[in-house]
Amino acid sequence: MSERVYFSNMAFSAYEADQTLPRKFARQLEASGLAERVKDKNIAIKIHVGAEIGYSTIPPVFMRVLAAFIKDHGGKPFFTDHYIDSRHPEHRGYTQESLGAPVLDVAGILGKYLYTKDVDFKGFKHVDVAGLINDADFLIDFSHVKGHGCCAYGGAVKNIAMGCVSDRTRREQHGLEGGLRWDASACTHCEACIGACNHQANSFNSKGDYEVNFHNCTLCQHCLKVCPAGAITLTGDSYLDFQKGLALCTKTVLDTFEPENIFYINLLISITAMCDCWGMTTPSLVPDIGLMSSWNLAAIEKASLDEIKFEKLNPEGVPEGIVLGDTGHLFQRLHGKDPYAQIKFLDEYGLGGGDYEFEMIK
Ligand code: SF4
Ligand code: SF4
Repeated sequence: MSERVYFSNMAFSAYEADQTLPRKFARQLEASGLAERVKDKNIAIKIHVGAEIGYSTIPPVFMRVLAAFIKDHGGKPFFTDHYIDSRHPEHRGYTQESLGAPVLDVAGILGKYLYTKDVDFKGFKHVDVAGLINDADFLIDFSHVKGHGCCAYGGAVKNIAMGCVSDRTRREQHGLEGGLRWDASACTHCEACIGACNHQANSFNSKGDYEVNFHNCTLCQHCLKVCPAGAITLTGDSYLDFQKGLALCTKTVLDTFEPENIFYINLLISITAMCDCWGMTTPSLVPDIGLMSSWNLAAIEKASLDEIKFEKLNPEGVPEGIVLGDTGHLFQRLHGKDPYAQIKFLDEYGLGGGDYEFEMIK
């Protein structure tokens, strides 16, 4: 069954504020039926507050539109993310005064306000659901869409699975990444593997052990291929386990809400290669696309990925020296991982198959 995705693109025919994205967003909210569901509810709006000198997170004007809409219809909104204190959301304009709703740490200022749910997928055993997410009546998952080094794509799923949980849960999920196995007894420390990596993803630590930063690693296997000793091999499960872990974590967090009390918004502007947690902004990979919203997670994620087209690639969005792959989605060519794998795992966990139809909102 096709799920509805509300979509406002960037097109305009006159220099009128009414034709720009924040106003289209307001009309999208009106069309979505959100107004009838928020009255008297505590509404957690999960955002990514970014860090350092990044400037590609959600512009405050969109958050202000959303908070005003909810309050106009009797809801009580608050914005939330983790590490609020250390990431200084006020540097990106995220204050109660500018947004019209408070910005709160999702697990309390000490990061310890959590509700643990048990899961069982390889080394992933605990989903520590952040307290304010668990306690809220209604969740709006408001995501800035971008690439991601570990799972190729960072959108609505990543905003929940990495952002509504504890450090322990993030660590257990990242622990699923795997990908490359290094055999210390076979390695001659010739360092050919280091020279072969054009993603600065591998290194030897102070103990002489081979380490891979899977945020940067595209699983291109250059290191493996140049190794004269056969000391590097593939583990076989790799990033797909991480994608599955993200879906499982997302499902576990969402289970703390009634299904009709979850709404998704994806902002597709300033689509950079890497996640906002890097604390910087690189040139956009493609021209701005617009804004989508939906009551279905897999549908909005699939629709967002489909609109990010390789044919629209801005080469300046890719670091110099990086060689893109030949096939697949733009994020797959860039990061070496299939971003649609997330959709497949969402389907496995009953969060939708990804079929969608657009309702265009001008
Ligand atoms: S697989 Fe490719 S990106 Fe990853 S460490 Fe090896 S050479 Fe670097
Ligand atoms: S190329 Fe192989 S033998 Fe040489 S340092 Fe890397 S892992 Fe060790």
